[in-house]
Amino acid sequence: MIKYNNMKLIDIIKEAEKNKTAIGHFNIADTQMLKGIFSSAQKLKVPVIIGTSEGERDFIGVKQTVALVKSLREEYDYPIFLNADHTYSFEKVKEAVDAGYDSVIFDGAKLSFEENMKITKQSVEYAKSVNPNILIEAELGYIGKSSKLLDEIPEGAEITDEHLTTPEEIKEFVESTGVDLIAPAVGNLHGMLKGANNPALNIERIKELREAGGIPMVLHGGSGIADEDFVKAIDAGIASIHISTEVRVAYKNGIKIGLQENPDDIAPYRYMKEAVHHVEKVIEKRLKLFSKIN
Ligand SMILES: [Zn+2]
Repeated sequence: MIKYNNMKLIDIIKEAEKNKTAIGHFNIADTQMLKGIFSSAQKLKVPVIIGTSEGERDFIGVKQTVALVKSLREEYDYPIFLNADHTYSFEKVKEAVDAGYDSVIFDGAKLSFEENMKITKQSVEYAKSVNPNILIEAELGYIGKSSKLLDEIPEGAEITDEHLTTPEEIKEFVESTGVDLIAPAVGNLHGMLKGANNPALNIERIKELREAGGIPMVLHGGSGIADEDFVKAIDAGIASIHISTEVRVAYKNGIKIGLQENPDDIAPYRYMKEAVHHVEKVIEKRLKLFSKIN
């Protein structure tokens, strides 16, 4: 881990990009999920980003989430970071920045382009005034919003070629907001289609957008994307990948199995073990792919 000693999150992301790898971002809703993610990252010795949506961070507690992740970073001197995933108002951005999050996503993908730029810029200015190392990520293009199993593609999701983020849009957006990271719509989708792979990514567009935007790009809606598409996306300029649905599915299955196998046990640290183990397995598989570890 010496390689990452005291490196800032932005430098770790840029380093990943330079090496044609991506940093995994995984959501948590409790300490068991955090435990599973951290143990797999540690095993593979790769940096990791923990995400919490507005719902997840309210469930754990905003300040409590910061304290948990910080405690691991300090105790193990480990490059583990905390991101406030999809945040829909400036007030909520401010709350996460004030609580000590390492990065915050302002998601204005459903707003007009101008309104999205305005609040993103406001978020950047506020975050940097508190701590210049806090990163702000913006979302350009609507890709659905739920981390769940889907029967069909969400209404309004911009996954067909004419709706993808354009190089002109990303250039204007980045220049006028000063944002650190950006998540474009490149055929990706939040959530995971039942019984089918998610739609293919537009790899050529990823390349064009990286060049036009000039800042690291984040891929959302990673669950359900084919392995070879991930590798191509990373090679084309994706520096961080979000996975949530897959982790949720694994966690819930692990809980079910743990309860079935220990029907009379009431000690959570025994019957929840299987749930942690299920999370570890998914994370290990994803981190190996993103870091190109065999
Ligand atoms: Zn997302």
